[in-house]
Amino acid sequence: MGNVDKSLKDIGSFMKLPGANLFITKTEDLFNWAKKSSLWPLSFGLACCAIEMMATFSSRYDLDRLGMITRASPRQADLMIVAGTVTVKMAERIKTLYDQMAGPKWVIAAGSCAISGDHYRHIYSVVPGVDWVIPVDIYVPGCPPTPEAFIDGILELQKIIGSGSTAPTFHSSTIPEEKTLSPLEVAKPAKKSKNVIQSEFINKIDLVSYVKKLKNDGFTYLKFITATDFDSNLTLTYLLGNNEDNKEVEFNIKLDEDLKVDSLSEIFSGADWQEREVFDLFGISFNGHPNLKRILMPDEWIGHPLRKEYVMDSHFYPYRPTRKEYEKWKTEL
Ligand code: SF4
Repeated sequence: MGNVDKSLKDIGSFMKLPGANLFITKTEDLFNWAKKSSLWPLSFGLACCAIEMMATFSSRYDLDRLGMITRASPRQADLMIVAGTVTVKMAERIKTLYDQMAGPKWVIAAGSCAISGDHYRHIYSVVPGVDWVIPVDIYVPGCPPTPEAFIDGILELQKIIGSGSTAPTFHSSTIPEEKTLSPLEVAKPAKKSKNVIQSEFINKIDLVSYVKKLKNDGFTYLKFITATDFDSNLTLTYLLGNNEDNKEVEFNIKLDEDLKVDSLSEIFSGADWQEREVFDLFGISFNGHPNLKRILMPDEWIGHPLRKEYVMDSHFYPYRPTRKEYEKWKTEL
């Protein structure tokens, strides 16, 4: 022991001890190295890109070797990988999760949807890039990005963190883009399924009795309720199926200015949420519905997005209505 104590005074001998190591650095660099080597991503995904992200975290790519362990709680995570389409409804939740994450924290926008909204950029319900909601450090392009691209993005982020030079971008698109939508083409009439044995228009006052009769005749499955805005009027379309012989009956109701019809929720429980969708997107009301409120859009959303009068680009500024606009809209109802 005496000899070992003596030799420890000699740094050269110390380095010869098994497992001994020595390095000299600044504390700032040491902390940056620790941060970049222990990124803990929040485990959540939004759409198809999330599947690719899951593959990236699988054993084949082994992200554990980069010190990455996904966490189920934002309080334990310092990296958010936004993988998928950011809808307006989800944007609010993303912001809440981001705010709950421990700092310092970083964000990777993975895939064209998260970066810019991609194919859905002009859709009423999609945010044109997650950097409208939270600051983004790294953008990984692709639809979807491959696991290799994900890893490339992570390594780039590690480089940035290691150098202590993070500079996330926020609201990178500040100039409203010109309307790029082409005029709607006149849709060709869709071919009816050969299973449809009957297709007709009925009067809305006959709706409930008409449907009860069909149900008694074996059409016990409400396949869908939807609507079409024909400019001159809104038309409701219902499709009922007979599961015994695989036959279907379609019927339509042309609505006048009074956008109200009776609810079918007492006859088909599935009508509940389908009527809510039609209410949400077209503004058609259903008398007697037990809980007629929005289902796809946030409660305070202004207007009905599948109506032709709906202004498509209104989501750009701001990406959702302000409280003032909402209050104004409420008084106009
Ligand atoms: S970028 Fe492509 S793969 Fe990713 S969420 Fe959008 S559509 Fe899906």
